[in-house]
Amino acid sequence: TAVAEQAVHPAVREFVSGTKRLLIGGQWVNAASGRTFPTFDPATGEKITEVAHGAAEDVDRAVAAARRAFEDGPWSRTTPSERQRLIWRVGDLLLERAEQFAQLEALDNGKSVAVAQGVDVAWSADIFHYYAGWATKIEGRTITPSVPWIPGSQWHAYTLREPVGVCAQIIPWNFPLVMAAFKLAPALAAGNTVILKPAEQTPLTALLLGELFCEAGFPDGVVNILTGFGDAGAALAAHDDVDKVAFTGSTEVGKKIVDAAKGNLKKVSLELGGKSPNIVFADADLEAAIPGSANAWLFNHGQCCVAGTRLFVEESIFDEFTQGVAEFASQVKIGPGLDPTTQLGPLVSQEQLDRVTSYLRQGLADGARALTGGGRHGDSGYYVEPTVLVDVREDMSVVREEIFGPVVAAIPFSAEDGLAAAANDTEYGLAAGIWTRDISKAHRVAKQIKAGSVWVNCYNGFDTAIPFGGYKQSGWGRELGAEAIDLYTQTKAVNVAL
Ligand code: ADP
Repeated sequence: TAVAEQAVHPAVREFVSGTKRLLIGGQWVNAASGRTFPTFDPATGEKITEVAHGAAEDVDRAVAAARRAFEDGPWSRTTPSERQRLIWRVGDLLLERAEQFAQLEALDNGKSVAVAQGVDVAWSADIFHYYAGWATKIEGRTITPSVPWIPGSQWHAYTLREPVGVCAQIIPWNFPLVMAAFKLAPALAAGNTVILKPAEQTPLTALLLGELFCEAGFPDGVVNILTGFGDAGAALAAHDDVDKVAFTGSTEVGKKIVDAAKGNLKKVSLELGGKSPNIVFADADLEAAIPGSANAWLFNHGQCCVAGTRLFVEESIFDEFTQGVAEFASQVKIGPGLDPTTQLGPLVSQEQLDRVTSYLRQGLADGARALTGGGRHGDSGYYVEPTVLVDVREDMSVVREEIFGPVVAAIPFSAEDGLAAAANDTEYGLAAGIWTRDISKAHRVAKQIKAGSVWVNCYNGFDTAIPFGGYKQSGWGRELGAEAIDLYTQTKAVNVAL
């Protein structure tokens, strides 16, 4: 198999040596159907291991386990400080096994093992530590009501912030572990129980994370992990005994989630696609803006919902700047994720390779010109050349649609006037970048951009404390920061006649 010849930690080899099972009610179990599916190493296309193929019947079992843990305890009786300690422990265990998690992520997803350890694992641990702290700080308010239509009356009102209940969380393959942390940590801090469905392309780190929850001492049924395909996600989104569904993935599937959730009007939060503008003014610090703007769409091989894939460059520096970005891109080291010197790994699957190369063919046929790249890299593994496209028009699919690969379309602009309208000319609204030395201009443009995150003189400037989410068709709700606690709590108002 894919792992046999590779230099991986013995614990990783051991982890992938057998069929991986579902975590339901604290037990590792086979799918009810007994079926499994393979997960592949995108650097070679070889199978890593088999994973339980969860479906509707397993969804029922997992939801029942989560419901029991929520209603009957012990989770409902766990104190905030006990929750804090449990969640903190998961962060610690992640750091203790950082190398194993990083290798498993590199193997299953294709990203560089150095990035997996330095970004994915480190950030995931930080997310658990951050939300561990929130468990003890979720508080209501006291209100002094007047009730003027009952003269002389006295009242005492307060709010309670209570967990939503049983939460289904469906995540994508681009940041498998980070997405699991985004979803699980705030939900658990707020006292919910969870069924997590990882993406079928990258189920492994979520399953290893499941082992940490057992080891940390979480009660049975609080965290359930159900591997499977879109049908399992659809069954979760439609389930009448699920109180909330949180989804990260494509806008297309996000709309299906909304439809499926209608039956019991479960709460829905969505983090969807993007086609984000990254704007470079002529007065920017180009030494920072060139690598920063290249990494805006190269990071994670362009498989980022926030990727800065529409590069707006002020006319007077357009040629110099796009050449600089193309040169940077042409020099990144392409290779398998497990090689620590790799900067750009393979895309996650054959399907993504086909999708990205077909966008490139279409863009070039439409008249775009590639300053560098333009197609597949090599003939084994799912590699794509980093590609900078110029001579694009706003109606081209490479400018309008989310490609999810290392491809950027560069667009010249001549004045601040009209720039925001061009940048906002997309159905999405997830993120944007602005590079300039003029702080007034930076704030002026930031205010006009319709996106949930704006980065000035940086890109991908994430932090656990900073809320994240989309305007327009990029989503509903905000994750990270205090906002994620809002997503996983509901407010009860109690008014007492004194
Ligand atoms: P991508 O296009 O990035 O592969 P998707 O939006 O297709 O992402 O998938 C993200 C997650 O949603 C995965 O876990 C996938 O299995 C799940 N999924 C796919 N289709 C559905 C659906 N109809 N309902 C619920 N979940 C789905």
